[in-house]
Amino acid sequence: MAIVLMIISVPSFAASFDDDGVLRLVNREEKITKNYDPDDLVKPDVPVNKKNQEDQIYLRPAAAKALEEMFAAAKEEKGYVLLAVSGYRTYGEQQLIFNNKVAQVGSKEKAWRKVAPAGASEHQLGLAMDVLSENFRLLNSGFLDTEEGKWLYENCQRFGFIVRYKKEWSNITGYSAEPWHFRYLGVSHATAVSKLDIPYETYASKARLLPEYVLTHGNALLLYALIENALYGDGALFEEMLSLPAETLEQQAMNIVDMTEKVLPEGLTLEEAVLSRGTW
Ligand SMILES: [Zn+2]
Repeated sequence: MAIVLMIISVPSFAASFDDDGVLRLVNREEKITKNYDPDDLVKPDVPVNKKNQEDQIYLRPAAAKALEEMFAAAKEEKGYVLLAVSGYRTYGEQQLIFNNKVAQVGSKEKAWRKVAPAGASEHQLGLAMDVLSENFRLLNSGFLDTEEGKWLYENCQRFGFIVRYKKEWSNITGYSAEPWHFRYLGVSHATAVSKLDIPYETYASKARLLPEYVLTHGNALLLYALIENALYGDGALFEEMLSLPAETLEQQAMNIVDMTEKVLPEGLTLEEAVLSRGTW
């Protein structure tokens, strides 16, 4: 029972696919309106690539804090100096970027593959950051071949970020590789997405069917197992999660404990699985 209480008392922000939700999916099919503008943006305390980019790195608070932790860890663990390039962008700024790209490459069609048109960029959510390093300051695929780029690929989920655009996913995401672009989802979801190694579109197609309490309080192991079951398995585990009565907070926490127990790998205690929002 103690573990149930712990789930309830561990502070966690609501995770949902709603407009202001940390899981909101944005792409060319699911656009944001011109008016969407998060009202809680803050500037993370991290170094920037160029001086004039100081005003372009705003993020929503949870993402900003996570970014600071990720930059600090890169420094402490490896001595890497990461640099923030671009965070929150308004609809209008995205429009400008897109129009500039059209002028540069000659057609809308060509620009489309490289840059999001207005309303189709998750930068407008305040939950995405472009990251480079002191040793590599260009937004191109070469970043992935650097030590810092590789470290980010392997570690970003520990802080709640995912690699959003990989080369092998371009037919689903609609973008070519962007090894500098990191999207914040919170540690549990980011860990599940990264273990599954799938584009966020694929993850979201199933995750958005889950009740909000599972999205908010579900641990990485459970989320991973549920989505894996829905995508590649018989779907029974996923259906069971949807069917559980969950009127009270206690009931919701109990459901999470019960379902986590079903997917618990050997060598891991239930407590570790439920309370570690990250690795297992
Ligand atoms: Zn980006």
